[in-house]
Amino acid sequence: MSKKYFIPIFGGIDYRLSKLFSLEEDLTTDYHGSIDISVCEKTEPDEIIASMITGKPPQEHGILGSMHYTNPLVRKVEEILPEWGEMYRRKIYTNKGWDFCRRRRYIESEIETSTVFDQNICARPLFLPSYNPEIQWLIFRNTIRANEYPGLGEKESEKLIEKNFQWRKKVLEKELKRDYDLLMIHFQYIDSIQHVYYENNWDMEKVRKAYDRIGSYCNELIKSASSNGFDETIILSEYGVPSRTDSGDSHHRTPFYPSTTPLSGKSINVENILNQIELL
Ligand SMILES: [Zn+2]
Repeated sequence: MSKKYFIPIFGGIDYRLSKLFSLEEDLTTDYHGSIDISVCEKTEPDEIIASMITGKPPQEHGILGSMHYTNPLVRKVEEILPEWGEMYRRKIYTNKGWDFCRRRRYIESEIETSTVFDQNICARPLFLPSYNPEIQWLIFRNTIRANEYPGLGEKESEKLIEKNFQWRKKVLEKELKRDYDLLMIHFQYIDSIQHVYYENNWDMEKVRKAYDRIGSYCNELIKSASSNGFDETIILSEYGVPSRTDSGDSHHRTPFYPSTTPLSGKSINVENILNQIELL
């Protein structure tokens, strides 16, 4: 009988901040370390999580970045022309009335290789970018970035972040009681808080509070998972804090993993995690 795994992904937990805020020590997991995402070109959840669940690099699973054009002609134009002027071209596409030319986020059917959810196990994915994202995610209203919604302000941003966090917690609470070989969920909380208080307003106390909160919540989850029959809990993040400079990456390549089971390598490879525990 193989083991039952609970794998929550907390987007944005940064390895260095986990040390700074002593999240690393506060967690009741025996093992932890950093995740190597060098196989991915873009620090976008869709691309990185697709690598986690397929065990393949982006060139093979086909999820590149976070969005894509469904119209083949537009896709070709975007491939040929360089990055600049994209906004302008998008306007032309839309004015042409080609509504389906808009960029959109990825969903399950676009992953070109098999995933862990095709294996012969009872598995449940929840809110996974690139696979079964939440509706708000698909319509670009999930990641609360103060710079994208300047009129919203910090307080209202926090309210929305909280609402989404509570909703996912509620769903998870129910699902944890069911009998799965693998339960995977994605939380946006830390990433969203970091976009408001790290990227735009330098308020590290707010960020620290968020890490403390997630630390306690993770410890609760580890207990709850174990009492509900899961053998191991592996907590993952897909990348670290948002980038505050023009480095080319939207987030730092410093994701963190705490785990109740050992994973080999000083820094585990993102495409090799589920492989290591023999789920892929
Ligand atoms: Zn982000």
